[in-house]
Amino acid sequence: MATQKHSPLTYNVSQLLREEPGSRREYAYTESALQLHEGEVLRDISGEAQLTRTESGIYVDASASGIVSTTCMRCLQPALVAVEVTFAEQYRATVDVSTGASIAVDTEEDDDAFIIDERHFLDIGAALREYAILEMPMRPLCKPDCLGLCAGCGVDLNQESCRCSEAPVDDRFAALQALLDRTPQQ
Ligand SMILES: [Zn+2]
Ligand SMILES: [Zn+2]
Repeated sequence: MATQKHSPLTYNVSQLLREEPGSRREYAYTESALQLHEGEVLRDISGEAQLTRTESGIYVDASASGIVSTTCMRCLQPALVAVEVTFAEQYRATVDVSTGASIAVDTEEDDDAFIIDERHFLDIGAALREYAILEMPMRPLCKPDCLGLCAGCGVDLNQESCRCSEAPVDDRFAALQALLDRTPQQ
């Protein structure tokens, strides 16, 4: 981990933590991809983050825009959804930057608090992911007027026309019909 190249969403805040509360850094970042869910990826991310030193850590005020590649809920083809994300979160220091001593984080008070790791890296990736998920529509569509799949014949109605009326009786029923026709009526 120590030699890992840092993600553009990760900042070394050891210097900022040594400064007075109110001290600030501003960053502009781009990131090619961030996984949101299985099969759903936020791509072409660009944004800005403002990091401000607070008493207990660093306050992050960030914005980002990107494109989520996902699946259309109507036709099951790939769908692209543009999202704009803004968030502000407090990141708590877990290690005192001057002494190296651990700082107890009261997890009961705020169990989903974001933290600055023991090497003084602050990663906005998790928050960006959470907020991007909140921005996603419940039913993403490939286009607003997607026609979806026909419930009867299953064709993608964006590509082909429905075959339900063309062949009103499916082969299995046709065979059954032929059998019935041969059965003497009585
Ligand atoms: Zn669709
Ligand atoms: Zn159909």
